[in-house]
Amino acid sequence: MSEEDLKSHVDDIINALSEKSEKEVTREELEKELSKFIEYGVPIDQAKQTLINKFGGIAVLTSTGSSSERTLISDLQPNERSVNLLCHIITVNPKEITVKGDNRKIFYGILGDESGTIPFTAWNSDLDVEKGDVVEISNAYTRDWQGTVQLNLGDQMNIKKTDKDKLPESAFEAKEFKVKDLRSGLGSVDVTARILEINEREVNVSGETKKVFSGTIADETGKAQFTSWHDFKLKDGDVVRITGGYVKSWKGIPQLTFDERATVKKLDKSKIPKGDLKLTKMPIHMLIEKRGALDVEVEGTVIEIRPGSGVIMRCAECNRALQNGECSIHGKINGKPDLRLKLVVDDGTGSISSVLNKELTEKLLGKTLEECKKMNEDDLINEINKTLFARKISLRGNALGDEFGTSMIVKDTKLVDVDVKEEAERLSQELEELL
Ligand SMILES: [Zn+2]
Repeated sequence: MSEEDLKSHVDDIINALSEKSEKEVTREELEKELSKFIEYGVPIDQAKQTLINKFGGIAVLTSTGSSSERTLISDLQPNERSVNLLCHIITVNPKEITVKGDNRKIFYGILGDESGTIPFTAWNSDLDVEKGDVVEISNAYTRDWQGTVQLNLGDQMNIKKTDKDKLPESAFEAKEFKVKDLRSGLGSVDVTARILEINEREVNVSGETKKVFSGTIADETGKAQFTSWHDFKLKDGDVVRITGGYVKSWKGIPQLTFDERATVKKLDKSKIPKGDLKLTKMPIHMLIEKRGALDVEVEGTVIEIRPGSGVIMRCAECNRALQNGECSIHGKINGKPDLRLKLVVDDGTGSISSVLNKELTEKLLGKTLEECKKMNEDDLINEINKTLFARKISLRGNALGDEFGTSMIVKDTKLVDVDVKEEAERLSQELEELL
């Protein structure tokens, strides 16, 4: 770098320093420091910014992607550091967790900007923001959580409230979603659906009794659970457009949640006829991405019959499966026999584990619990393998997503007949394509 170039870069730095700090550092010092950075191969913009920060600058200089530049939520990838956002708080909730025996308060919720929404966790206990606040966040980082990007607000993070009009109007507008695409972490959604079931209950929220309405909604693409924290006078069979809800995970299943700030409009019932509500069949990878779903069907091949399948003993008190004749709660206890299957099913796009109860296991094996009890254990496992391993199967039930992956509590199942001729043709065609 020429002497002249160096001088002009130092001028830039001095111009960016505040008046006070300008007096505290000499031109010579800056030249020396900058030369050192250049010697070490630090890019010039980064070197200048570092010196401005060090000596108390007031402006951001860099022309290229400076670290203080804002990222849009839809552009966030897992494992990004120094993330800066301008966004609004869609939901925020405190949560008590235990870390190494200590109780800690953290916060979790959803943030949104004009490009999309993202779930977040804040690890400091004094986060002082509310729903609806527009905030500038700097120095956050992202992680991958069960296939989706999650924002983490850690110790190095700064958050400050700012003016609402800094965000474009569109950041606050709800976006349209089909029911099958609802997954936890979405905020500001706009959903049109038919109410299939609605129940009312009372809950205690910070000492106050509140009415909560929950149930099932559906459109032509699928079903989902919902909870409303406000009485919108909804009834079974109503077709409604719900604008301004958000989706959170409840017992492993995505749930549409809304309150008095949402708009709920009743539509003509013919908008979603009852006959259009079919059972949703989806590829397994989609279930995994959604982290669970209500009443869905998958079809795949049984790739594993897991230990714990077959005849098991359950605690007579609490129904837990006994391990070596002992219940983890009640100790040594008389067990009652039960029959179940734990299958791993793969459809080529992903795999899920599933649990089938006695009735479904009896149906698949063509044997009753009594008949299975009379067989020795190895013979029964052999029989299960012969009947199910590598066979194509259809499973219907609720899919649950948790930190261990996605699993299904199966409500109905059947073996799928594979047309042998068709399958042979498909395989030979696949082979031809490979050759
Ligand atoms: Zn027990």
